[in-house]
Amino acid sequence: MSGKNQRNGSSNRPRVLYLSHAPDDIYDVVRRMAGDEVDLVLMDSNDDVARCAAIADCDAVIVASYRLTGQHLAAAKKLQLVHHQGVGWHDTTDWQTIRDRDIKLAITLSGSTISVAEHTLMLMLAACRHLSHADAELRKGKWLVNALRTRSREIMGRTVGIIGMGRIGSQVAERLLPFGTKGLYCDPNVTLDNATEKRLNITKTDFNTLIATSDIVTLHLPLMASTHNIISKDILDKMKPGSILINAARGGLVDEVALDAALRCGHLQSAGLDVFEGEPPSNDNPLLSNPVCILTPHIAAGTRDALEQKLAAVFANIKGFFDGQPLENEIDLHQHED
Ligand code: NAD
Repeated sequence: MSGKNQRNGSSNRPRVLYLSHAPDDIYDVVRRMAGDEVDLVLMDSNDDVARCAAIADCDAVIVASYRLTGQHLAAAKKLQLVHHQGVGWHDTTDWQTIRDRDIKLAITLSGSTISVAEHTLMLMLAACRHLSHADAELRKGKWLVNALRTRSREIMGRTVGIIGMGRIGSQVAERLLPFGTKGLYCDPNVTLDNATEKRLNITKTDFNTLIATSDIVTLHLPLMASTHNIISKDILDKMKPGSILINAARGGLVDEVALDAALRCGHLQSAGLDVFEGEPPSNDNPLLSNPVCILTPHIAAGTRDALEQKLAAVFANIKGFFDGQPLENEIDLHQHED
């Protein structure tokens, strides 16, 4: 390969670090998707000293769940490209340093959207039916054939409020269509056209109206300084009694202690959470012992289908970039202040 983006070292191939330490079956997919046109560097332990040593002579780094910190970037003297394996770059990269060093940042649009939208629907249905609790109690010999009857709900006819009508939010709206829900959404940057709103039976509104009138609120916006704890105690108090909160976006969007209290006092019916403020959540996180929560370990985008699609797109973009082609899905960091 030859091109305007210069490779370092003696090899003609870009040297690419996969930042997260992952199990062998994931590394098998990473290796398969990388092919032989890059020098792939994989971490054999989750050790940050080794990570800094490994990144020192890399041209590109792939970021997944493990955060790319200022410490890694300080060691990465030759780095030209940070490629996020997914879309949630705001909180998983020290993007201010990436911007200040004029390193490129690209995200991966293919892969995550359908997986997260499907997971969101699953969390909604599971939260409506207290699925985790029913399953856990049955395994302990408790047959809750009637105990949950007056607390379980259907989603047909209920109002679902989508906060963030981007790629995932809009695919959630599409998937709700056959369930016969009514939709509300808020997004400072997106307004669907009239025909789409009509087809999806969904209406744009403001954040406070959505919070006060939705039976199910689902979060699909990025975590930024301005959205940290956007679902605060005050906002939880304003949610409809008996309503449900779904979060497959980022844990820091929700005040977890206040959510636990709102669930335990019965103000909210239940919650479905794929993400936590600290991951994994600490043992004393009260949500872990809250029976009306459906909890999953940040796996909304964690399907083999999504992984293969994402890695194929990541390596195609990296190879193209070092071959002198335009970088796809680049984030213009100079446009971001938050
Ligand atoms: P996107 O950029 O397509 O959509 C996000 C939308 O949120 C944008 O339209 C934006 O305008 C809107 N938004 C920003 N601030 C807002 C606010 N204050 N109120 C309402 N809307 C606001 O991103 P996407 O691909 O739909 O992903 C959404 C989020 O999902 C990501 O930022 C990421 O954190 C999360 N995510 C989670 C997983 C997972 O595994 N759980 C996987 C992928 C993405």
